[in-house]
Amino acid sequence: MSEAAVLQNDPGSTGRFGQFGGCYIPETLVPACQELESAFRAAWSDPAFRDELDGLLSSYAGRPSPLTHCQRLSEDIGAEIYLKREDLNHTGSHKINNVLGQALLARRMGKTRLVAETGAGQHGVATATAAALFGLECEVYMGEVDMERQALNVFRMRLLGAVVRPATTGSRTLKDAVNEALRDWVATVETTHYCLGSVMGPHPYPWMVREFHRVIGSEARQQCLDLFGALPDLVVACVGGGSNAAGIFSGFATDPQVDLVGVEPEGAATVVRRVPGVLHGSMSYLLQDEHGQVLEAESISAGLDYPGVGPEHAHLASIGRAKYFSVNDQEVADAFALLSRTEGIVPALEPAHALAWVSKQRHDLAGRKVLINLSGRGDKDADQMMKYFAQ
Ligand SMILES: *Cc1c(COP(=O)(O)O)cnc(C)c1O
Repeated sequence: MSEAAVLQNDPGSTGRFGQFGGCYIPETLVPACQELESAFRAAWSDPAFRDELDGLLSSYAGRPSPLTHCQRLSEDIGAEIYLKREDLNHTGSHKINNVLGQALLARRMGKTRLVAETGAGQHGVATATAAALFGLECEVYMGEVDMERQALNVFRMRLLGAVVRPATTGSRTLKDAVNEALRDWVATVETTHYCLGSVMGPHPYPWMVREFHRVIGSEARQQCLDLFGALPDLVVACVGGGSNAAGIFSGFATDPQVDLVGVEPEGAATVVRRVPGVLHGSMSYLLQDEHGQVLEAESISAGLDYPGVGPEHAHLASIGRAKYFSVNDQEVADAFALLSRTEGIVPALEPAHALAWVSKQRHDLAGRKVLINLSGRGDKDADQMMKYFAQ
């Protein structure tokens, strides 16, 4: 197997990406993960399932998302910048691709209820949206601290008909919300599907979620060929759990001439630091202290504050197929303002990390064609940035 082909692969029944991935879960969850794997395998090779999902992605989510060439930003940076516009999807980010896929799969499995974890609230809102669309019950676990910080998204989820439950253990943030959602799933697996929000967790989630986001990379690859008759030199995406990056990388993984770059916040630079460990059901890199205690991630962007990362990114980093870098909050704030000012596009703070890295590296990118995954729009961050710039 060529290393370039790794992202195209089915990780098999063990869910391994090199030494990473796998399924580190309590005995009681093993049947649920096995049932999910076989249901996904069957659905993903069923043309009727694929057609129904494609139909929803176009009629409901608004796909295909456009590819935008940024004239003024390109002049500013000195490279040719193209944006994959996931910010234009319904609910404002790439997350809708994954939740529509999982909700459709849940219905096919005869489940009537979705549970989900959420940090900043974006995946919770997306899951509540899909649950409303399909008439499924929905409960979202959210750290008590995050519920206070993201009161607007708590209201949105309730408006969409979801029940929001506070996670009151540990640091009362995303990591604890995942634990609560897993606990709920163990007890309710007969009726419930756990709609996990990124390419993390036990097998089959990292693989399944990447497949639901593959549409980003497939579209972008063809759009590049249509627009400028070639592939980009470089594809750049922000990395929290890693789902939007995995989605766009998958379109270019077998093109070794295309460089892949993932960008993390300095305060959650999981892949950059490369400390292996097990969290939430899989082996990957994670933020931990010398005693193996998981550390809190911290950045300007709540959507990237996850102390782990999807196992496939750990694998891609370890074999060198993708490279990972970090940027600081000030660089992100500058990039947030730069794209707004030059292109009339206000990015979410998460993809502003990818923009910030490109802006910082501009001297090495002269004349190159750079594709950035604009994973979401910045409306949700306007209030925070108003205060940040007023300081
Ligand atoms: C949730 C979110 C992310 C981070 O999640 P990944 O799984 O790393 O993609 C990035 N961008 C936006 C806009 C998000 O909402």
